[in-house]
Amino acid sequence: MSTIKCIGILTSGGDAPGMNAAIRAVTRSAIYNGMSVKGIYRGYKGLITGEIQEFKTQNVSNIIQRGGTILKTARCMEFKTPQGREQAYNKLIEEEIDALVVIGGDGTLTGARIFAQEFNYPIVGLPGTIDNDLFGTDVTIGYDTALNTIMECVDKIRDTATSHDRLFFIEVMGRDAGFLALNGAIASGAEAAIIPETSLEKDQLAEMIENGFRKSKNSSIVLVAESEITGGAMGIAERTKKEYPQFDVRVTILGHLQRGGSPCAQDRILATRMGVAAIDALLDDQRNVMIGTQNDQIVYVPFSKAIKNDKPINKELLNTLRVSSI
Ligand code: ADP
Repeated sequence: MSTIKCIGILTSGGDAPGMNAAIRAVTRSAIYNGMSVKGIYRGYKGLITGEIQEFKTQNVSNIIQRGGTILKTARCMEFKTPQGREQAYNKLIEEEIDALVVIGGDGTLTGARIFAQEFNYPIVGLPGTIDNDLFGTDVTIGYDTALNTIMECVDKIRDTATSHDRLFFIEVMGRDAGFLALNGAIASGAEAAIIPETSLEKDQLAEMIENGFRKSKNSSIVLVAESEITGGAMGIAERTKKEYPQFDVRVTILGHLQRGGSPCAQDRILATRMGVAAIDALLDDQRNVMIGTQNDQIVYVPFSKAIKNDKPINKELLNTLRVSSI
């Protein structure tokens, strides 16, 4: 029998579409199971300062379709210090919050792991990031919506690229992961993707050009992951201008528009399933795990696994892009 009477919920780090759907599902599932819910604003920052409000089912009405996060999000340096975390712990005791559900990316779950260990406090994490870079889950909340946004943007840029016979380098997000760039390239019919996972092994730009990737085409689009390892779209474009001056090169950085917008059906469903699963996990006495999905089944991934390992890119996708873009 679980002793958890009240749970706190927060979103932290970069926002992602579908975070609201997750907040809604966690809140309603907790209430369904007889718990009370407190919404904590601005991530770990609001936990320390006490920006906390009781949530009823109406507090999460009409939000499943909204991008961003109604709980707001923030980056919080104090939480990286033992003193900051102690303040956070004292606030949880004062507010009589027995367990936390945190929604965020790698940094958020790293903080959660340290805190949970330090104070032997129950936390369940949900993977909320467009980057899809958490190990142990096939997808993260927000990833598919961002992928759709990228696809729509690339479709538009393609019109100009074709009209002017240009080579476009389009930079997409992903931190140090190439999921958005690679799958974005496949979905939008781009000619290539430059991603950190393979940049370390070989010079992708040189390889692309040597293989004559533009032989049968006048215009081309290459998606570049924003990572320092790839050099970003600007870095790649500078190199191209110097080494291959025959190309008419342009750069577009998609930037923050990739984070926004109404979540697609897949992200709403994923967030709702994961939100319900977070409460099931706490009722099941699970501690310090991230909810993931593998082969469409809910799984519990220990924080240590989710954040410590680099999630591998599926090599088959590299070949798919190569073959489908000749
Ligand atoms: P994301 O969760 O999207 O990866 P960040 O990396 O900015 O975003 O992390 C969000 C917050 O998580 C940070 O502002 C900080 O409060 C907390 N955090 C990140 N890393 C740590 C850490 N090593 N120790 C404690 N807290 C951390």
